[in-house]
Amino acid sequence: MSASYLAQAQRVVVKIGSALLTDAETGKLNRTWLQALVEDVARMRARGQEMLIVSSGAIALGRRALKLAPGKLKLEESQAAAAVGQIGLAHAFQEMLSAYGHSCAQILVTLEDTEERRRYLNARSTISTLLKLGAVPVINENDTVATTEIRYGDNDRLAARVASMMSADCLVLLSDVDGLYTAPPHLTGATHLPEVAEITPEIEAMAGGAASEFSRGGMKTKLAAARIATDGGARMAIANGHGLHPLKAIEDGARCTWFAAHSTPYAARKRWISGSLKSLGALVIDDGAVKALTQGRSLLPAGVATVEGIFGRGDAVSVRDKAGHEIASGLVAYSSDDARRIAGHSSHEIEELLGYSGRAEMIHRDDLVLKKG
Ligand code: GLU
Repeated sequence: MSASYLAQAQRVVVKIGSALLTDAETGKLNRTWLQALVEDVARMRARGQEMLIVSSGAIALGRRALKLAPGKLKLEESQAAAAVGQIGLAHAFQEMLSAYGHSCAQILVTLEDTEERRRYLNARSTISTLLKLGAVPVINENDTVATTEIRYGDNDRLAARVASMMSADCLVLLSDVDGLYTAPPHLTGATHLPEVAEITPEIEAMAGGAASEFSRGGMKTKLAAARIATDGGARMAIANGHGLHPLKAIEDGARCTWFAAHSTPYAARKRWISGSLKSLGALVIDDGAVKALTQGRSLLPAGVATVEGIFGRGDAVSVRDKAGHEIASGLVAYSSDDARRIAGHSSHEIEELLGYSGRAEMIHRDDLVLKKG
């Protein structure tokens, strides 16, 4: 049953660890392995699945190119290594994906891009557009500008944030372990867990630390990733990626650990918008817009009569009709100042009114939650 999880998923994030991408002895890019992985990705794309890759390896590749000594790198050394290594990494993906007719898009994100509201909206909408256009986003942390306080540091959690930000229904962490065991795998009596329904304190106790020189994420960060991903509505697998065609291997029933999703990506996102975000203002809308919203459409500036409060782009606002009933809440695409300027105007006037061409919608329907009743 679990072997079919990957084949059934609609939007899949695959995280590739540095230890898989680079040869342990030479430190070079493991092209044969990557080629086989890309073939798996292309096969899934051909089945109509949307694929996103979160790839590590920039620092590992760059440190070799720059001939940096083995061992822990200083922050500025890893920033420099990432700047060099990311070029080769992206180039390899581009070359291999294009052989299957797919465009490859490089996205470098920082912690703020997934945590800060305004930038979150930007990242989400750019990546959505790329998926709509059929491209395969290849994502990594922007290690060159990320400093210790403001970085993820490990791509396990980054991949989980990407999965929840993009409402993916499946996340696969390809690493050098084939899942979670009841005790460190080399100990006698350690048993492999094929499925984890919930991350309980017992499960957490099973995760030891230890990461290699190249990959930062140990089992602890993988569990942290599982928490983020499953809360966001994605099912997550930890699988051994060492063999060729690791995604196909999962579909063929290779041993791995699946973490159950706690809701659907849609429900998780709606809950996040309507529940956990404090509303900073309100948009009062006309009757035509109320009708459009109830039909599942976006809120356009033309339908907004008044703007209340002070908010920034990406903040949560409530949406009311003229009689004062709350119709919806959502993430607004304009700051309160700009929203006031374009309220009541049609979308093609936005550029003239603001001096820049922003989004056509005041609140995109993906960012809206209708109140029931
Ligand atoms: N972002 C880092 C890189 O590309 C990898 C972080 C990790 O190994 O999880 O080298």
